[in-house]
Parts: sequence; C-alpha cells; structure tokens
Amino acid sequence: MTQTNDKLTCIKCGFEPEYESAEFCMNCGYELDSNYCTNDHCMSRNNGERIPLPSYACFCDGCGSESTYYLDGFISPSNVDRN
Ligand SMILES: [Zn+2]
Ligand SMILES: [Zn+2]
Repeated sequence: MTQTNDKLTCIKCGFEPEYESAEFCMNCGYELDSNYCTNDHCMSRNNGERIPLPSYACFCDGCGSESTYYLDGFISPSNVDRN
C-alpha cells in the first residue's frame, strides 16, 4: 500500500489541484477528500469535526454505514487480495 496524495485528487474527474490547501476541485467543483460517513450519529466519524474516511472506503469502519463516495457511485467494494 502506498500513501500517495490521492486525497488531493478529485474523485469525480481526476483533476489534481495545484495547491495542497485546496478544498474543492478547480475543474468540477467537487469537494476534495470528502468521503464522509453518511450516518449523522456516527460517533467515530461525525462526533464534532467530521473526519473523512480514506478515499477507497465504501463503508465506515466505525458504524458500517455507506460512505459518500460509495453512495455517489465513485467507488465500489473490491475483492480483497488474500494471497
Ligand atoms: Zn473534479
Ligand atoms: Zn460511521
């Protein structure tokens, strides 16, 4: 697993923002790094400040609810390589 700066790549159009401080895609306006838990009462992700899930997460690891990226159809569950 490599930790690249894919959190800064727009999940919607693939555009890479010029600045790390960018919060929205300059190309399509989608919010960057916005893969949130859709459960408003999720304690681990929505308690206080909303903490985005990893860009590949289809479900919240704290409550099992769908993520926003998954609901928007940008990602789908993949087969885990079990070796
Ligand atoms: Zn975009
Ligand atoms: Zn959650």
